[in-house]
Amino acid sequence: MIEVPYKHPAWIEIDLEQFKKNLQILKAYTGATVKLCVPVKANAYGHGLVPISKAAVVAGADYLGVSCLQEGIILRKAGITIPILVLGAIHSEQISDFITHDLEFTVASLFKAKLVAQECKMLNKSVKVHLEIDTGMNRTGMRVETARAALDFVRSESVFELKGVYSHLATADEPDNPFVMRQLELFINFLQENGLRDDPNVIAHIANSAGVAVTKAAHLDMIRPGILAYGYHPLPNMPTELQEIKSCFAVKAKVAYFKKVIAGHGISYNHTYKASRDAHIITIPVGYGDGLRRSLSNKGAILLNGKRYPIVGNVCMDQFMVDVGDDSAYVGDMVTIIGKNQDQNIPIEEHSNICSTITYEILCGFNNRLPRLYLNHTGAQWE
Ligand SMILES: *Cc1c(COP(=O)(O)O)cnc(C)c1O
Repeated sequence: MIEVPYKHPAWIEIDLEQFKKNLQILKAYTGATVKLCVPVKANAYGHGLVPISKAAVVAGADYLGVSCLQEGIILRKAGITIPILVLGAIHSEQISDFITHDLEFTVASLFKAKLVAQECKMLNKSVKVHLEIDTGMNRTGMRVETARAALDFVRSESVFELKGVYSHLATADEPDNPFVMRQLELFINFLQENGLRDDPNVIAHIANSAGVAVTKAAHLDMIRPGILAYGYHPLPNMPTELQEIKSCFAVKAKVAYFKKVIAGHGISYNHTYKASRDAHIITIPVGYGDGLRRSLSNKGAILLNGKRYPIVGNVCMDQFMVDVGDDSAYVGDMVTIIGKNQDQNIPIEEHSNICSTITYEILCGFNNRLPRLYLNHTGAQWE
């Protein structure tokens, strides 16, 4: 076990070697002609924006995907030099910053394209853009019927360097839903009709994680797998080549307090749990203020010395309690809140199921109060 040279008694552990291995598996699966864009938005799905982006660069990512200007600037200031694509909608007052920091961004309407052109002419600068086509997500992007005009405009204005054309899948993680194929067909038709399919200068991309797994036909020139890169399988039946992709995220803490609670006495706010007999109760210094979900109250569990114990009473902002029965535990003992402990495991999915949500929301819910410890083959490093 590694020493924890940090004074906070709870932390997130990221296995960077596993993360890089996931990216290598993805690259091997798509082959050398397909580029890899790693989505690192929302603090790299809770894994830490800068360290994950640096690891992605080392593992051979071609692009990083962020949601907004601010995330892109953080990466440039951290010394990342590979292409960065901002996936979210942009605002005209941000255009000069996109240029200054060499960030590629999304043009999702003719109206926006005209604003961008105007701004660029004023600044006497050019911009690298991707056009977004809406093939059925109905979030952002132009429908194929209207995208042609924006494409013509972008092609006619020398301020634009058209780097890519993309779309986003809405239902690729539903195994029996044929809609993914309809979106793909619509997108490929659009590309072909506009001479974009075989244009070596324009990157066509549509596949999120589920899209990568569902059909190789969706890989096109670049894939954008987020949740899969972090180790979570978007489909129940994954292609064999992708099955070695594994999660790299764990949450651990040291026991902060041990006490005996008398039979019949309530624990935590509102006494939602009452000790049925004299109980050994430990207190763990993590709470919903860190991103540990309050819905785990009386439903979740932790691991200590390779055994599972239940979370009892309401999870508080900074702490929660666990009933270890007749077992003993000592202040300073290490508990696993998410991840492996001896032959036991608490996967993210256990939390997302209890909380009736998706793995994504659990992951990016963990904020920066818990420090992140990055493990790699040379040792361990705090963020
Ligand atoms: C977040 C996002 C992705 C990644 O989605 P996953 O389901 O995590 O693979 C890909 N493309 C766009 C446009 C996104 O917003």
